Amino acid sequence: MSQLDRRTVLKAGGVLAAAALTSCTDTKDASAGASNGLTVAAPNWNSLAHSLTGRVYLPASSGYAASHQLFNPRWDSVQPACVVKAANATDVQKSILFARNNKLALVPKGGGHSYVGASTISKGLMLDLGAMRGMSYANGILTVGAGARLYDVHAFLDKYGRSLPTGTCPTVGVAGLALGGGMGIHTRTFGLTCDRIVSMGVITADGKAHNVSATVDPDLFWALRGSGGGNLGVVTSFRMATIPATKIGFFRLTWPESKAAAVVSGWQKFAQTAPVTSWGNLHIDARSNGTLSIHVLGISTTGNASAAAAQLESFVGSKATVRSITVKTHLEAVKYLGGGTTSPRSGFLAGSDVVKGPMDAATITALLGAVKAAARAKTPASAIIDPLGGQAAKQPAGGASWPWRSALGVIQWYSGTAAHPSTAQLRIAQTFVSNGHRAVQKFSAGGYVNYVETGRSVSTYYAASLARLQTVKQKYDPANFFHTAYTLG
Ligand SMILES: Cc1cc2nc3c(=O)[nH]c(=O)nc-3n(C[C@H](O)[C@H](O)[C@H](O)COP(=O)(O)OP(=O)(O)OC[C@H]3O[C@@H](n4cnc5c(N)ncnc54)[C@H](O)[C@@H]3O)c2cc1C
Repeated sequence: MSQLDRRTVLKAGGVLAAAALTSCTDTKDASAGASNGLTVAAPNWNSLAHSLTGRVYLPASSGYAASHQLFNPRWDSVQPACVVKAANATDVQKSILFARNNKLALVPKGGGHSYVGASTISKGLMLDLGAMRGMSYANGILTVGAGARLYDVHAFLDKYGRSLPTGTCPTVGVAGLALGGGMGIHTRTFGLTCDRIVSMGVITADGKAHNVSATVDPDLFWALRGSGGGNLGVVTSFRMATIPATKIGFFRLTWPESKAAAVVSGWQKFAQTAPVTSWGNLHIDARSNGTLSIHVLGISTTGNASAAAAQLESFVGSKATVRSITVKTHLEAVKYLGGGTTSPRSGFLAGSDVVKGPMDAATITALLGAVKAAARAKTPASAIIDPLGGQAAKQPAGGASWPWRSALGVIQWYSGTAAHPSTAQLRIAQTFVSNGHRAVQKFSAGGYVNYVETGRSVSTYYAASLARLQTVKQKYDPANFFHTAYTLG
């Protein structure tokens, strides 16, 4: 810790002790002490700060406001009692034990892109692993600290001619993405991000360090692959099986709104029958003039997307009106998909439906109607449908709790909002998401945990894996230390 930070902690410690005590006893979700009615002593922040290699931010520290920001500015108003920027696994261990001893709730933070702000906590301890982003590569295996962001991982692996199946946003954390699944352009060819995990360093609620794999703590390994972050322990590092960084063929096909139903129907056939080397996600966007914009952005991992584009057009039954076919190197593709090497913070409200099989004509009409209603109301809204299938339909060696292997795809209902939206704006965005859920209800199997929403049950996200996940939770976190409104237990 720098002198400045140490001084700030020392200065703030006395003042904050009283505030923290108050907060610990009046906030249900931030303090175990609150939920059992016990009075607890004030946390000794000075002792925590002195014991760590990393940095500690308290509300009076300079840099505190920036220290707890997430990707979505909506959560800026959530005020943790303390933010620990962990430098290593020992800091993670000490922070967990400190939080337990002081009856504080703790949430880990990776890239900070949680849809519901699950990586920050009012009056609790935010454990930020962002500084733990070291990487090494040998024999096809990437070893990566849990704080790494996606662009950094791709740029690092590119030097070795390697890649990883991930999502597209450059600033998303590898930890949050991998723990909840991880979908992207390589999903059908190489599976989900979680499927590539070979082993993980994990600190459980008792402060114990585990190195979990298919043979060591296999139940925890299984659970962490797809059950979402923040549930079962804090992952400090991953070892992941990489894939070749090949050229990627791209297609982008746009149809007029009059073809919308045919495009959804054709895309469903594509998702069911295209070769595993093909992938394409369907975007149905509300335009501010009340109309819909319909396009599919697709790839081929063979390096040539012409055949994939033609196959999709034949399933739709008409040629796209705007059509582009390109080839990109691995890193060009990463930057193109991510809109660059970084991503500005932005406000949004979103949710999802996992589509269990091809939707019928009435459901497609209802889906399009949900986005059209948003367009007419000038609500920023998109339905983005990612295909599954291919390698994602297969259980990886060692198993994974991600429950959607047999599904057709995942619809994301996304509404961009102001950075700090009013209650009325949030209600409008939520109405779009809820209308989307209703429209596809008949074909929805549940939701994707990386697109978690408020107000939905945990069974929505874990489906057939829920009972076994609860058994694992009971074994590794019997006191339910890792607990928020969105976690197991
Ligand atoms: C702009 C944007 C683009 C996205 N694109 C995609 C995409 O293409 N594909 C896709 O599949 N998903 C995508 N997502 C969703 C994304 O995968 C999830 O939001 C994911 O949880 C983010 O991880 P994070 O580390 O950035 O977030 P965080 O908010 O830091 O973490 C998410 C959850 O994981 C927990 N967590 C974080 N680190 C750890 C750790 N080390 N150990 C244990 N738990 C931890 C947190 O407590 C929280 O509950 C996108 C999200 C956004 C906002």
